[in-house]
Amino acid sequence: MAGRDSRGIRQKAMKSQNRQFPSNGQEMRAAVYRGPGEISVEKVPVPDILDGEILVQVRACGVCGTDLKKIAYGLVPPPRIFGHEVAGVVARVGSAVTGFEVGDRVATHHHIPCGNCFFCEKKLFSQCEFYRRTGTTAGFEPAGGGFAEYVRVMDWIVAGGTVRIPDSVSFDEASFLEPLNTCLKALETACVEPGEVVVVYGQGPVGLLLMQAARAQGARVVGLDFLEPRLEIARELGAEAALDPAGDDVDRTIALMTDGRGADLAIVAAASPEAVADAQRIVRRGGRVLLFAQTVPGEKIPVDASSICMEEKRLIGSYSASVELQGKAAQMIFERTIDVARLISHRFPLELLQEGIRLASHPSAHSLKVVIQP
Ligand SMILES: [Zn+2]
Ligand SMILES: [Zn+2]
Repeated sequence: MAGRDSRGIRQKAMKSQNRQFPSNGQEMRAAVYRGPGEISVEKVPVPDILDGEILVQVRACGVCGTDLKKIAYGLVPPPRIFGHEVAGVVARVGSAVTGFEVGDRVATHHHIPCGNCFFCEKKLFSQCEFYRRTGTTAGFEPAGGGFAEYVRVMDWIVAGGTVRIPDSVSFDEASFLEPLNTCLKALETACVEPGEVVVVYGQGPVGLLLMQAARAQGARVVGLDFLEPRLEIARELGAEAALDPAGDDVDRTIALMTDGRGADLAIVAAASPEAVADAQRIVRRGGRVLLFAQTVPGEKIPVDASSICMEEKRLIGSYSASVELQGKAAQMIFERTIDVARLISHRFPLELLQEGIRLASHPSAHSLKVVIQP
């Protein structure tokens, strides 16, 4: 499976057995989801690992929009320990693991596809049934587990979804591997081409990642947000224009950039039906609108059917990460093609996860990515 590479041939003898921590039966702190809007920091057992698995001491875990929605709306039954944007240190390795050793700095993906089903053959990895199985857990029903001191990484994630991180890259930065991957996947799904004008609705941490990733692929990007500090960061990180739809003339800017045609691609990285409607209006004939933040089942959006039929505008979506983009995402972060450190506004210990969730779901002018450091 992808990602195994030369790590597998490392000498097992190099493992320093005496650095194994923690000991069996030990307890750890974890932020447990107990019901809609309810998180409590509790003592839970450190997860046991099987022969093919590793235990990772979590050093950084990003707070993701999908976690926020699951917690706020109670989309899944409690109890669970969320957090899937994990970077940390290998604390224990199973007896059958040859590719990693205690002390390795790693980042993990929590979903990896099977590689040979109907959907995988069509490269629709996130629709693969196996992909939906979460492969990292800190206890209870697997749900990521990064909001805990230790996380158990199951064998298929060890084999295909665990990435070694260089010493020069911080755990905070490495925790962006999975979110950046989801952005690269969205751009691939939208077939973005160099020179295209791309409008990104929302310049929060995800919108700023999408903006930078599109720019890195040669697109000319317009970032939209209602918060001026975010627009300033967008300009600083390479947006050709960063505008507030409430006050700025977005239509005119895009018309000037496209000889009046309209944007080639609009990406909606904001959970706003109005943004979806506007995106459909703002793209050119034959342009694309990609939905990136519409992850609550049952949510309805307005669609002008004639714009799809007669103007041949396409409405598409992209969800989660692609196993084939792991290497590219890692390279972009490790070489700092994409500035992810700039996107972190707050770092909280586990005990303040509730506060981190509040900030991430109700952003202030100066809040961006919230990272938990258990
Ligand atoms: Zn996420
Ligand atoms: Zn599959």
